[in-house]
Amino acid sequence: MKVTDHLKNANGKTLFSFEIIPPKKGKNIQELYNNIDPLMEFNPPFIDVTTSREEYIYIEKKGLFDRKITRMRPGTLGICAAIKHKYEVDTIPHVLCGGFTKEETEYLLVDCHYLGIDNVMALRGDTMPHQKYFEQTKGGHNYATDLVQQIHKLNKGQYLHDVEEVDNKPDFCIGVAGYPEKHIESPSLHSDLLRLKEKVDAGADYVVTQMFFDNQRYFEFVKMAREMGITVPIIPGIKPLAIEKHLQLLPQVFKIDLPEALIKEVNKCDTNAQIRQVGVEWTIQQSKELLDFGVPVLHYYSMGKSDNIKAIASQLF
Ligand code: FAD
Repeated sequence: MKVTDHLKNANGKTLFSFEIIPPKKGKNIQELYNNIDPLMEFNPPFIDVTTSREEYIYIEKKGLFDRKITRMRPGTLGICAAIKHKYEVDTIPHVLCGGFTKEETEYLLVDCHYLGIDNVMALRGDTMPHQKYFEQTKGGHNYATDLVQQIHKLNKGQYLHDVEEVDNKPDFCIGVAGYPEKHIESPSLHSDLLRLKEKVDAGADYVVTQMFFDNQRYFEFVKMAREMGITVPIIPGIKPLAIEKHLQLLPQVFKIDLPEALIKEVNKCDTNAQIRQVGVEWTIQQSKELLDFGVPVLHYYSMGKSDNIKAIASQLF
């Protein structure tokens, strides 16, 4: 079922959902199930599955550089299918511009349709580790808007190249990313929101936000988006802080600010367990305020371990 239909059926009640990262090559899927199992009691209508950018691996031979190979992190679509089948829940693959030609994207979307996947999250994708800025893949898209356009066209039965007869069009519900603290490359929040409006005008049905730790950022973002004519649901993405290193890592990677009060609480802790608990308590308070605001979904970034998400959800759902 489409995310937008799940929201309609909820009749204004806030839903619980989360995002997972596929296991690395060689890892057992059981570990992932062990993390998903405890969260299923909160009835997520959908689970997002991320996609990682490809990596370059440099192969040496007799101490000399021999060749460079491109390594993809496998799994997104397979994991989507496995989870959908095991838990009878909708799964949402993240579809990226980076690393894919338009044709490869079309094959992926056709496979999604065969698997009965009704939603896709359309993203530009992270930069590769050696890149400072995103570099367009040859034959691929430069911006998420262009990817949304491709998916929207496919929904109308328009494939990239000739298809003689189309009798089974997909009808993907399309999610896109939004940034309450603006995207790193954007000159201002206002400019970034104009770009978000372009994604919605191109066919996006809902927005999921980047993580934020200060709800005022989200409230302001939603207000500005509504004033600009963005009417689709804006789902807050929330991550519980879990380790001391997050104090540097989260601002560095996601270009977000951490509130002073949270930093102070983390600095008082002596152990990792205490820091994890601070993260849980902060997220519970944050989530309660978002519930009062009437957000459609509380969407948690699980990053592989779900004990803290369970502790949070059990206080809210
Ligand atoms: P875009 O919407 O294309 O925007 C990128 C930048 O370009 C913005 O600054 C925007 O303002 C600007 N822009 C847009 N259109 C134009 C234009 N026409 N001209 C000039 N500037 C323009 N990354 C992954 O690799 N895998 C994932 O699974 C993944 N999941 C994510 C899930 C969520 C909820 C979020 C918020 C992010 C996720 N990301 C993921 C990270 C995302 O790929 C990066 O943040 C990326 O840098 C931007 O993606 P986007 O889709 O927002 O890009």
